[in-house]
Amino acid sequence: MPDDVLGFDGAAALIRAWSRGLRPDPDLTVSSWADRHRKLASRASAEPGQYRTARTPYMREIMDRLSPGDATQRIVFMKAAQVGAPLALDTAIPTPFGWTTMGEIAAGDLVYDERGCIARVTGLSPVFEDRACFAVVFDDGEEIVADGDHRWAVWDFTNDQPVARTLTTAAMASRVSIGARGTRRRYAIDCCDPIEMPEQDLILHPYVLGLWLGDGSSIMNHISVHEEDAEVVEHLRACSVEAEFRLPHWRKGRIGNVVIDPTFRMRREDGASLSDCFRSRFVTRLRQLDVLDNKHVPLPYLRASRTQRLELVRGLMDSDGTIGPDGKRCEFSNADRRLIDAMIELLRSLGYKPTVYHGKARRKVFGADGRPSDSAEYWRISWTAYAEEPMFRLSRKRARMRSIENGRPWKSRRRRIAAIRPVPSVPVRCIEVDAPSHLFLCGKGWIPTHNTEAGNNWIGFVIHQAPGPMLAVQPTVELAKRNSRQRIDPLIDESPDLRERVKPARSRDAGNTMLSKEFAGGILIMTGANSAVGLRSTPARYIFLDEVDAYPASADDEGDPVTLAEARSLTFAHRRKVFLVSTPTIRGLSRIEREFDASDQRRYFVPCPHCDAMQWLKFERLRWEKSRPETAEYLCEGCERPIAEHHKTRMLERGAWCATATAADPITVGYHLSALYSPVGWLSWQRIARAHEAARGNDEAMRAFRNTILGETWMESGEAPDWQRLLGLKEDWRAGTVPAGGLLLTAGADVQKDRIEVDVWAWGKGLQSWLVDHIVIEGGPGDPACWQKLSDLLSRTWQHASGTQMTIARLAIDTGYETAAVYAWARQVGFAQVAPVKGLEGFNRASPVTGPTFVDATIAGKRLRRGARLWSVATSTFKAETYRFLRLEPPETSPVDGERFLPGFIHLPGWIDAEWLKQLTAEQLVTVKTKRGFAKLEWQKLRERNEALDCRVYARAAAWILGADRWSEARWEELAAQFAVNESRDNASTTAPQPGRKAQVRRIARSSYMG
Ligand SMILES: [Zn+2]
Repeated sequence: MPDDVLGFDGAAALIRAWSRGLRPDPDLTVSSWADRHRKLASRASAEPGQYRTARTPYMREIMDRLSPGDATQRIVFMKAAQVGAPLALDTAIPTPFGWTTMGEIAAGDLVYDERGCIARVTGLSPVFEDRACFAVVFDDGEEIVADGDHRWAVWDFTNDQPVARTLTTAAMASRVSIGARGTRRRYAIDCCDPIEMPEQDLILHPYVLGLWLGDGSSIMNHISVHEEDAEVVEHLRACSVEAEFRLPHWRKGRIGNVVIDPTFRMRREDGASLSDCFRSRFVTRLRQLDVLDNKHVPLPYLRASRTQRLELVRGLMDSDGTIGPDGKRCEFSNADRRLIDAMIELLRSLGYKPTVYHGKARRKVFGADGRPSDSAEYWRISWTAYAEEPMFRLSRKRARMRSIENGRPWKSRRRRIAAIRPVPSVPVRCIEVDAPSHLFLCGKGWIPTHNTEAGNNWIGFVIHQAPGPMLAVQPTVELAKRNSRQRIDPLIDESPDLRERVKPARSRDAGNTMLSKEFAGGILIMTGANSAVGLRSTPARYIFLDEVDAYPASADDEGDPVTLAEARSLTFAHRRKVFLVSTPTIRGLSRIEREFDASDQRRYFVPCPHCDAMQWLKFERLRWEKSRPETAEYLCEGCERPIAEHHKTRMLERGAWCATATAADPITVGYHLSALYSPVGWLSWQRIARAHEAARGNDEAMRAFRNTILGETWMESGEAPDWQRLLGLKEDWRAGTVPAGGLLLTAGADVQKDRIEVDVWAWGKGLQSWLVDHIVIEGGPGDPACWQKLSDLLSRTWQHASGTQMTIARLAIDTGYETAAVYAWARQVGFAQVAPVKGLEGFNRASPVTGPTFVDATIAGKRLRRGARLWSVATSTFKAETYRFLRLEPPETSPVDGERFLPGFIHLPGWIDAEWLKQLTAEQLVTVKTKRGFAKLEWQKLRERNEALDCRVYARAAAWILGADRWSEARWEELAAQFAVNESRDNASTTAPQPGRKAQVRRIARSSYMG
């Protein structure tokens, strides 16, 4: 090995590590390692517990390509955001249709509000970082992390009579306890009413499942019951399963055995062999529910109708529940935390207030496997219930319940706040819901989905089984740090095998551009694709490149980060492994698609449950009735018969990866996976259909749908609109006045050598926009008079159709040409009304506007540190949006039906000239080849002058900065009301063209063509 390879910081440690770790590669594969050694923490996963490859069978081959025994050197995985990673849905949010995450939730989705009641999302805030956060602890042990400004509907118990108030978390924080000794809890919130949800088509009656989960054998169709409770057989039969009560001669005490669906004892009438009918249908159903040897409550049961959930509780209670001597307190004990958590969720959704106790067993505890547990740990849930809604089916237990007339039901209907304490800030997001309280839902430890469990399993495997130097790259150093803290640390902590191998972190790594973990025989270096130093840090046998489509084009101007990183592995020749993973972005820009296209393009083929035809799942074959996504089914390619969601489990089990192309490079294999393959209980076909319906007509949402759900790229259409067509669409209003629909003014200013051009735009509902003014200030940045005129614009007013005078809410000014002069001016007039902006290239930016960042400014020769603010604008995104909006058709000219303008419609005034329109349409998006031969999308000018387009993009950015993109319909209505525009006039002029108005539009159109 050449010397210069080892001339880096930490080389000595690496050599030490190697010399200790020289040993042959293991036979164990990454997937079998994960099944044996990987544990998922409950806080970081929607399905905590032992990692189970069987849940996502398609991940096995991908992971095993990463094992040292496999000859593949490069593994490319292009995937939907939610497949392969859902085991780590860090901010899992339960919805009636399954889990979603804080990052993926959309307006219109159904969620539970903070009390567990069902609500519809009506608005979403951006993700906030660095907010004051608090952990709110309730008397039943539940803990919610909430923003300090979050408002709660609480009962205040300061006086004898509780008073209903709405208070923020921060306001309550210091006064949670009152009374002389500080022992009284001042605030309480109501428990929710029972949640009504539609009845689910469940493959096993919930009572039967509950009974089996409580006391059943974890691998077969036997349930142990007390001999007094033989009547259970009748209840089971009532739930349409066959059951027999048996008293085995070996029985201990008075415990008998109920055998459900004992068909395996019978021979088939046609004399077929015994093994054909050995499997009981009951066991088959348990297997379909994935509960065999894996006792838990499947999601559809948690989201079932109220009656179904109650039946599930009764099943669990008939086996593992008791009623207290007072006839009111019900108790459920179990040693399986997952069953306990499910029971709590069920009870809350039924309007009860369960309290959990954790303890050491004083008596024998039966674990999830139905055998006495070695661990003395168990949990006990206790809650108050009355005979009016029995918690049991068994008559013996049922008879002991008391009537509500003898109780104090209100006491069990409130949850007291036990403590509120500050916690380290986590990124939070608020959801506006249509619940009566309009209360939130806040993220618990929000983490972006820049991760795959496959990659993490690989990391664990390397540390444990095949040590060597490993480089793990995230899009940025910042993300690498976050990933290290939130993913890699728990990965190591949760596994004793890893814990004992990894050295404690060295403090000097903190704040570095790379993070490292040393372990016997190797080192894991984590860094960001934006840091050339990090990428050059070390030779590495293993290279994990995560979310490559979010990588910058170049790392510190030193070139393509993927190439830089891969170069580190060349020393290891055929022993190297490179794993590239990403959700794709835009066609032509997407690295992962480029890599996948060059690979053998494997797809996961699954058999049709009806005709066995092997096929890979395509979105076009998902069919549903229009506006009824709940009817979604998959149509088989072979027999055209519909395949239902519940078939998926079996299909995935029997699936196989097949190449669909010949790889350009034989050492590379490529995999593609869409969310259509999500296992039952995660993202269902119904939800995918619903997401597609919701995204229809909105390019931005459709792009997100293609990228994150289908795992496919989005084709950006960047053809310049035809300016002559626009000429024909001009409408009639006076220059310098604001039409009735315009409710907010922003301006975009473009600084040129000899002038500043300013366009003033009005914005309204659905982000329709109107050009209000076009101003050219002669002079240029060197001329103080020019800046004075620009300042004057900030206090100038424009008259709204209602007569109200409007000022510019925000003016965005380009800093590209004379940065210092722009900063100086902006500082002088203040940042409340002015936003200096810098245009950035590229599409793969999470948000089209970021900032502000504080930048140094020079004012009157003096340098001011952090003296100015700067927003970064992804101009490509807004240019593409502007062209999309310009292509929208105006409503058909029909005076009767009052058709609306489409959201985003750009209204152009009659007074604007052809030159301005040509400037607005001056660029087009083209695919160009880079020097290294990669395709790249780029905006190119079709003509020299394009100020109108630049000004539009800046004014659009100003509207974004003001938050207009996230305003609800209600907020726009409020604004409209402030203009004293009555509803009918408002409609008349902006949304519902009436005869007079329409005639005008047409007249102008005609005259424009003729003129
Ligand atoms: Zn078929």
